[in-house]
Amino acid sequence: MTEFALETEGLGKRYGRSWALRDCTLQLPTGRIAALVGPNGAGKSTLLHLAVGLLRPDEGRVRVFGRDPRADAGVLAGIGFVAQDTPLYRDFTAAELITMGGRLNRTWAADLAADRLAQLGIPVDRPVGRLSGGQRAQVALALALAKRPRLLLLDEPIAALDPLARHEFMQTLMGAVAETGTTVLLSSHLLADLERSCDHLVLLRTASVQLSGEVDELLVGHRTLVGPRTDGPIPGVAEVLRASHTDRQSTLVVRLDGAPLDPSWIVHDVALEDLVLAHLAAAETRAAARTASEVAA
Ligand code: ADP
Repeated sequence: MTEFALETEGLGKRYGRSWALRDCTLQLPTGRIAALVGPNGAGKSTLLHLAVGLLRPDEGRVRVFGRDPRADAGVLAGIGFVAQDTPLYRDFTAAELITMGGRLNRTWAADLAADRLAQLGIPVDRPVGRLSGGQRAQVALALALAKRPRLLLLDEPIAALDPLARHEFMQTLMGAVAETGTTVLLSSHLLADLERSCDHLVLLRTASVQLSGEVDELLVGHRTLVGPRTDGPIPGVAEVLRASHTDRQSTLVVRLDGAPLDPSWIVHDVALEDLVLAHLAAAETRAAARTASEVAA
């Protein structure tokens, strides 16, 4: 039986009358590096805070390695969390933060964190408030990894970093994960940074899951079709996500239904970023149609 690092079922969190996350059902198998992607305000932080037990669900349930993170404090020992903007105590040095972590956590690999920072040439004797954004993010990551977590949750850790610092951060992360087999869920509104590193995708838009699954399977299930102009149903296609037409020709990003395609189509693979954009565009179109029908009614 597959063991899931994170599993949610009908999970929802509400602020007043607005849902920050609603009807969220997903399964993240262990050992994956998963991208949690979606526009700002889609509910990514909310999902991560629910997973680490900082928020209480209003609906549904969340399980980490099969356990409820709010009911079962033991499970928290196995979760590493890097919150948005890597909020560290800025007056403390990295060395002091490593020592402090040792007092707060039962399992704590202080040497591992110190070695990692030394390798990166990050001074451990300077208040972290005086380090660069990229260095601070590396300190936060080293501290999260020192806990030897089975699940590592990272909330937009690279959004504020320059491209080189982003690259270095992702390299450290990938190296650490290769060594430890930790499952990672990493949120970003920029898929391009994650596309090469992630093997699992969760796409959120306005509080709901648009798409979730293994990247390979998602890519196999989608194609771009180019052919004579058509507006009707297409054999082999479950859903047209995005369409652009000239007088004579249609270019369609589609989700396949497994039946054979008409050989007259010119068929291209879809890049992950195009697939995500197509799903977001399709959701936008559906939402606009819903609003229009509500106005009409
Ligand atoms: P993301 O991380 O994808 O940017 P969030 O999970 O932060 O999205 O937010 C989802 C929605 O919930 C947004 O509309 C946001 O304004 C709202 N929200 C988040 N936190 C609060 C809060 N503490 N009080 C009220 N609304 C909130």
